[in-house]
Amino acid sequence: MRDFTLELEQRKQAGLYRTRRQISGPQQPALTSDGRPLLSFCSNDYLGLASHPANIKALRDALPETGLGGAASHLICGHHDAHHQLEQRLAEFTGRSSALFFSTGYMANMGVISALAGRGDTIFSDRLNHASIIDGCILSRAKIRRYAHGNVAELEAMLAKASGHKLVVTDGVFSMDGDVAPLKELARVCRAHDALLVVDDAHGIGVLGPQGRGSIVEQGLSEEDVPVLIGTLGKAVGTSGAFVAGSPVLMDYLIQKARTYIYTTAMPPAIAVATCASIDLIEQDDERRRHLRELVAVFREEASSMGYELMPSRTPIQPIMIGDNWAALELSRALEERGMLVTAIRPPTVPEGQARLRVTLSASHSRADLDQLLEALSQCRHLVAQTDVAV
Ligand code: PMP
Repeated sequence: MRDFTLELEQRKQAGLYRTRRQISGPQQPALTSDGRPLLSFCSNDYLGLASHPANIKALRDALPETGLGGAASHLICGHHDAHHQLEQRLAEFTGRSSALFFSTGYMANMGVISALAGRGDTIFSDRLNHASIIDGCILSRAKIRRYAHGNVAELEAMLAKASGHKLVVTDGVFSMDGDVAPLKELARVCRAHDALLVVDDAHGIGVLGPQGRGSIVEQGLSEEDVPVLIGTLGKAVGTSGAFVAGSPVLMDYLIQKARTYIYTTAMPPAIAVATCASIDLIEQDDERRRHLRELVAVFREEASSMGYELMPSRTPIQPIMIGDNWAALELSRALEERGMLVTAIRPPTVPEGQARLRVTLSASHSRADLDQLLEALSQCRHLVAQTDVAV
């Protein structure tokens, strides 16, 4: 039998052991951990909408109408009016002809990729794509070709040599680096080589583009250029779940074939109602995005002038590159002593030798909150005297 205890011990020795932190209270901008308040710079609630009173009221008001649980899968008897209305709202919001509501982004990626590609097909995947994309590729049983991060020339050379159906999949905003995929170029090579382009815009929806419509709209592209958009609702939208948006034929195909859509209980319909309320706020409230962009600009300016190594990111995901696992843990611990929560991210979530502190900023942070983080970073600068990142 496999020695699980030994494997856990080896993880600990390598600085790779993962633990959960128990938190309480509302989560942004501060949470409570072990009875202590900590300013949080590691959630994906980029707009602070997870605790917005309008969304909470929408959920509360919907519950007596819809009941709590989803009660059945969509194809049995779980497809509620509220789900249907959310799908129409998501299609309209993203400028697409139709949408399908999934329970999580992980399930959406697994279900969509494994439905749209199969044995004999080839999937081309950016090396830094999210774990759920990687798992979707494996589940599909298609041949998987990974291209260097953002390297469209390498992708094009691979596409030129491939035969059979081709699917290209990429994050819109990369979850651990914060950079934005070159979608225009990807759309161009996909068109030239008759490949289906799938974009997971988990971190772009709500944050990028006019009225927060995401990275595809920001880059001036439409459903014709990127036929399959996947978005999550538990990040900037502040609720829960995910969606796929594209043509009605594609949605129909997914309803027939995406196993993570078919064989699971529908999301609570009240969540769909609250999500519609949140999308209204995202569309109407440019001020949150403006404030967030300002925080990002100040953070980049100040942290890099302290000598911290940042990534070329203009999104709220602002990793501080450390390199060594233990050094990343040490900086995270020192910041926590000063009341700041910034989790260390280590392999296999990021490549070997690229441990980092993934700072995420949110419109819920005030300028004073950010100043506290910057002050703590300045006090801890000596802990990363020498960055040695194997990028
Ligand atoms: N895609 C990306 C790029 C992500 O970062 C994540 C979440 N970390 C997901 C998908 C999964 O989404 P969810 O949390 O809704 O399962």
